[in-house]
Amino acid sequence: MKVDLNKVIYAEKDATYTINYEQNTVCTTCEGSREARDSAPLECYACKGTGIKLDSLFQREQRCNTCKGFGTLTKKACKTCNGEGFVKQQVKKEIEFSKLIN
Ligand SMILES: [Zn+2]
Ligand SMILES: [Zn+2]
Repeated sequence: MKVDLNKVIYAEKDATYTINYEQNTVCTTCEGSREARDSAPLECYACKGTGIKLDSLFQREQRCNTCKGFGTLTKKACKTCNGEGFVKQQVKKEIEFSKLIN
């Protein structure tokens, strides 16, 4: 059998590899606000909406752990992202073989 070598090389060069991975993307339902659409977030009572709390012992500013630095508390958490503000999304990416070897 005679193999056309040019054709074989060409086919390998154009081959694509598909990789799958998970990526955190901003929730499109709440647009990252973590709040349900028919609700409005509450101002965090612990930091008064600043997201920063003053450490009383060291007199240092630190991220408010009540609202995790957001400055707001969810009244009704977004159902799509469970109040996280982002969702895990399966990403499919095709990589051309020629880009891998170059
Ligand atoms: Zn959401
Ligand atoms: Zn807070």
